[in-house]
Amino acid sequence: MKQIAIFGATGSIGSSTLDIIARHPERFRASVLSANRQVDALVALCQRFEPDLAIIADPALEGELAAKLKAAGLRCEAAAGPSALDQAAAGPLCDTVVAAIVGAAGLGSTIAAARAGKRLLLANKESIVISGELLLQALNEGGGELLPVDSEHNAIFQCLPGGRPPLARSGVRRLILTASGGPFRGRKRDELTTITPDQACKHPKWSMGRKISVDSATLMNKGLEVIEAHHLFGASADQIDVVVHPESLIHSMVDYVDGSVLAQLGNPDMRTAIGYALAWPERIDTAVPTLDLPAIGKLHFEEPDLETFRCLALAFQALRAGGDATTILNAANEVAVEAFLNGQLAFNAIPDLVERVLAELPQQSVVDIPSLMDRDRAAREAALRVLASTC
Ligand code: NAD
Ligand code: MG
Repeated sequence: MKQIAIFGATGSIGSSTLDIIARHPERFRASVLSANRQVDALVALCQRFEPDLAIIADPALEGELAAKLKAAGLRCEAAAGPSALDQAAAGPLCDTVVAAIVGAAGLGSTIAAARAGKRLLLANKESIVISGELLLQALNEGGGELLPVDSEHNAIFQCLPGGRPPLARSGVRRLILTASGGPFRGRKRDELTTITPDQACKHPKWSMGRKISVDSATLMNKGLEVIEAHHLFGASADQIDVVVHPESLIHSMVDYVDGSVLAQLGNPDMRTAIGYALAWPERIDTAVPTLDLPAIGKLHFEEPDLETFRCLALAFQALRAGGDATTILNAANEVAVEAFLNGQLAFNAIPDLVERVLAELPQQSVVDIPSLMDRDRAAREAALRVLASTC
């Protein structure tokens, strides 16, 4: 029986994970659940899954969580704050950690799980974009394993021989990440001036949290995924291609030197990737319907439009710059997306803001996690200054 901690249990990835756990009670148990500020939603999950520990990220809500768990007659412990997440990730209550918090807030618990040698199911792509090699180092030291949950990386993992081998020795020519193109595929920059948060969050193929939905609309999500693929699989920027594939049925591909291209296909439902990562190396039923290829008929592919969707170009630029440029990119993007969602920043101004912050803070070499967190803070401050001067 695997004991699973789900950080970000109330979110989109969290609910898909719990759906699979509920279907396989003989294999998996949700032993730790966390949420940011949604006490009632977290307590409802505790009533259903009876974990040992519930964590609320906002320390001000610990008392309310404890009282509501008690009132519900649950024996589940309550804890709060980022340090409780880190401790639980490394602690004895779980052997598997699903990193499904959104944004840099997930970094601490992801690193803690890696250091402690847990099986790390990585959905929180921002944490590997920020910490890159340091996360992999922590993983090596801990001796655990990382299974990618992001559908593209999960697809590539499935198409590589034996997980995450050195690409050169496996005859891999390049990795091909597919992108749906988001809700504004085919539009030009001047057609995107009045985009609202609700329009940006209406993804044509995937139902996801609001931050990643905006990232998908700007193509920053694909940019973060290029950086994630670089770290996870050791591919250089030149070995990673992005192709727009609006049907979102091919989740990514691996191109080999002998001319073979291996692809992983499936309906766009995150339960496939999550179920694969939970059960690996076995496979389990996830209730995702099988593909009906004759009904689908055709698959389409096109080049990404890097002029309209400049965030993807900026991500490649940061990856090529090296050092902590991707940490700066991520922090500036988090500030820009939040400002866009709050109605403070126009959709087209998201790449402008990221670009200005990247220019203001030239890359430095990566030393350790605390110094990366300092740079993350500096980039957020710079982004807020730019925001204040433009609004
Ligand atoms: P979501 O917004 O639906 O859920 C986020 C979860 O994190 C919630 O449980 C929330 O309470 C928690 N959270 C938010 N801020 C927090 C904070 N400051 N501290 C602690 N907890 C916090 O997001 P999501 O769509 O489930 O995405 C989660 C992560 O998975 C993101 O990094 C995203 O890029 C990645 N991802 C998501 C999908 C998808 O289909 N949704 C696919 C691939 C990767
Ligand atoms: Mg993805």
